[in-house]
Amino acid sequence: MIGLLTLNHYIIMAILDLFNEKGELGEFGFSRQNLRHSSKSPSERLIEQLRTQGIINANVLEVMRTTPRHLFIDEALSSHAYANHPLPIGYGQTISQPYIVARMTEALLSQGKLDNVLEVGTGCGYQTAILAQLVGKVYSVERIKIFSDKARERLNFLGLNNVQLQHSDGHWGWAEQAPYQGIIVTAAPLNVPEALLEQLALGGCLIIPVGQKDKQILLQIIRTRTHYEQYLLGPVNFVPLHKGLK
Ligand code: SAH
Repeated sequence: MIGLLTLNHYIIMAILDLFNEKGELGEFGFSRQNLRHSSKSPSERLIEQLRTQGIINANVLEVMRTTPRHLFIDEALSSHAYANHPLPIGYGQTISQPYIVARMTEALLSQGKLDNVLEVGTGCGYQTAILAQLVGKVYSVERIKIFSDKARERLNFLGLNNVQLQHSDGHWGWAEQAPYQGIIVTAAPLNVPEALLEQLALGGCLIIPVGQKDKQILLQIIRTRTHYEQYLLGPVNFVPLHKGLK
């Protein structure tokens, strides 16, 4: 089942890439613009796309340019590592689309510098790696043990040692390390888990997708002295936040 899913994804990605190539050639032919375009590295081209899509935080763009996304995915998919779409990572989960990673990180940082951040849903560890280079300390929880173990290896390899990972259910947050100046959730619950609101520091920022499949919205929630301010960032499509461990 997982193998089949991976293969299907692979074929779809290959077709998407084919369209991209065709589109570029069709539009520019062998013009100077095309030559200039092709001399850029895949990660530079990705950053250009993110800029076009409205990402403006220079630190976020720079960290995404220099972080080797291919190290976080299966070797068989590495030719798609810098394409702007999600990719399968096994167990029916995905590495998020770079645009979504950038958008969520930018929104998380909109309140200024953050000393500590809780991430729910480590997955392959890519978002964790981006955060680790932009904030003081990252705590990340994941319900699938093998993901947590592999992410730890990758983050160690990259020398990102301001990260702590835990194999646990993110519905409960990580109370021992709270309060957090930022919390980012990379799988969608139906409602915002109460524990995450409680573990948010005063002035802290929570970025979270909520809702059923095909009806999800991305929320930014800021904790004030008296209440939680809520902003709608737009429609999204995340895997569900599941209960329990695997
Ligand atoms: N942050 C990842 C996205 C991973 S996809 C990235 O950089 O691409 C979402 C992840 O959330 C999956 O790995 C999934 O196993 C995990 N997840 C789902 N429900 C969870 C829960 N209750 N607690 C912790 N992790 C959970």
